[in-house]
Amino acid sequence: MNNTHNVAEAVQRVTKEIRTLESQYQRKPESVALLAVSKTKPIEAIRAAYSAGQRHFGENYVDEAVEKIQTLSRDHPDEHYHWHFIGGIQSRKTQAIAESFSWVHSVDRVKIINRLASQRPSELPPLNICVQVNIDNEASKSGAAESELEELAAACATHEQLQLRGLMAIPAPRSSFEEQRKPFAKLATLFELLRQTHSHMDTLSIGMSSDLPAAIAEGATIVRVGTAIFGQRA
Ligand SMILES: *Cc1c(COP(=O)(O)O)cnc(C)c1O
Repeated sequence: MNNTHNVAEAVQRVTKEIRTLESQYQRKPESVALLAVSKTKPIEAIRAAYSAGQRHFGENYVDEAVEKIQTLSRDHPDEHYHWHFIGGIQSRKTQAIAESFSWVHSVDRVKIINRLASQRPSELPPLNICVQVNIDNEASKSGAAESELEELAAACATHEQLQLRGLMAIPAPRSSFEEQRKPFAKLATLFELLRQTHSHMDTLSIGMSSDLPAAIAEGATIVRVGTAIFGQRA
C-alpha cells in the first residue's frame, strides 16, 4: 500500500515514464496526458498527487466521487481539480455526473448522451465526451460496437452542452507488448475514420498501469493510471 509520500513520488515517476515513452515512439513531447485514477482511494492520497502537480483525476463510482469532489471544494477551495468520470453509467446517475465532472470517458449509448446534455448546467462549459468502444467485442463488457460509433458521434454533435473529444477503450488483458498493441491500433484506425466527419476530435483515452507503452506507441493522448500511482486497490 502506498503512503501519501510515495504517491507524490509515483506521480513524478509515471510522468517521467510517459515523457520517455513519447520520445521512444516518436510522439510529440507532452502529447500524452496523465489521468490519475483515484477510485477507492482517500482524499489524502488525491491531495498528495496534487502536491506533485497532478490536476486530472479519474473516478468510477458516482456517489464516492461526488462526496470526494464536494469535500475537496469545501475544504480546499484554492485547489483546482479536473474530474473525469470513467466508470459504468446508470441512467439515474447522469445528473450527478453532468453537474460534477468536466469529462466523461465511458459514454456508450444515445440515451446517456441525451440525458447528460439536458442535465449539464448551462453555467458550466460543455461536458467533454469520449465514446467507449467494446474493442474486443466481449459479451460481458460495456462499450459501444464499432457499427454504432457514427450514430453516437452524431448524437453528441447535436448538443451544445457536449463536446465530443474522442474514443476510449479497455481491451481484454494480454501479456505481451505486441499483443497489447493490436486492439489499440484497431481503435486508432476507428478514430481516424470517425475524424473524417468529426474533425475536431483529439483524444484517444487508452492505456492503464499494465499496458502504458503499447497505448503510447499506438497514439494514446490520455492514459488512465491507478495502481502505478496509488498502489493496489483493496
Ligand atoms: C481502474 C481503472 C483504470 C486504472 O487501472 P490501473 O490498472 O489501476 O492503472 C483505468 N481505467 C479504467 C476505466 C478503470 O476502471
